[in-house]
Amino acid sequence: MPRPIEIVEVGPRDGLQNDPTLLETSVKVEFIERLIAAGVKRMEAASFVHPKLVPAMADSDAVMQSVPRNKGVTYIGLALNERGLRRAIDEQCDEINFVMVASAGFGLKNQNATPEDTADLLERIAILAHDAGIPLSATISVAFGDPFEGEVPVENLTMLAARAQAAGACEIALGDTIGVANPWDVTARIAAVRDAAPKARLRMHFHNTRNTALANVYAAIEAGVDVIDASAGGIGGCPFAPKATGNVATEDVVYMLERAGYATGIDLDAMIKTALWLEETALKHPIQSMLAKAGGFPGSNT
Ligand code: ZN
Repeated sequence: MPRPIEIVEVGPRDGLQNDPTLLETSVKVEFIERLIAAGVKRMEAASFVHPKLVPAMADSDAVMQSVPRNKGVTYIGLALNERGLRRAIDEQCDEINFVMVASAGFGLKNQNATPEDTADLLERIAILAHDAGIPLSATISVAFGDPFEGEVPVENLTMLAARAQAAGACEIALGDTIGVANPWDVTARIAAVRDAAPKARLRMHFHNTRNTALANVYAAIEAGVDVIDASAGGIGGCPFAPKATGNVATEDVVYMLERAGYATGIDLDAMIKTALWLEETALKHPIQSMLAKAGGFPGSNT
């Protein structure tokens, strides 16, 4: 049996939120439908933040009201505070992802909160998700480096992970928001977070800003992590992280893993077609992924 690796598609949220092209709600829903047709079973579809802060996510309520349901797809809604969490519940997200910050420099700019503030807030509002019967996960952003403060001590991650687990988060994601991780640091931080929060499932979120994202995915898989975030076409960024570029491309991750014998459940050709649709039809600008340029292997001509 090939080892299954779950790919969490973050293109409709992390991908689109910092793209220069603003998509109509109907085009976002078409994107989501194409992802489902390619085999995606779990995706970030919405972000319930203030529309002035992230205009590209202003229609998150409308998106959630239009996505196909009953297809075995888990839709994740992002929340940074109680108001966002309540909106995610109202819009019937299947899962809520609460964003913690590993460093105050980024945290104060992104959500006006220090690491301790985000842990306090999660402890206070986790009950709302539990009462609604909605699984709650936590992402620790800037877990490998802060664009304003530089290095982030691993103790910040272990503190946040322990508190997230205690608050009832079923999964903890380490987010390399600005793409500064290296594979050895990935291995070390996974081990430290596992010690601090042994009951939580781990998920990894890499940006390819400095071309290390696939190597970081490799390190995470070797460390036993089974859940990887990726965005179709490698689109994305972060409005509050200067020069942060896209997420690792879903098709690049799927190619690497499937060729090595892992099972992602995602159809590589369909994902490449979705990436090219983004480039040519939806966003109308070049995308970052390599597989969209080169195609898979072996291919129809080999
Ligand atoms: Zn991200």
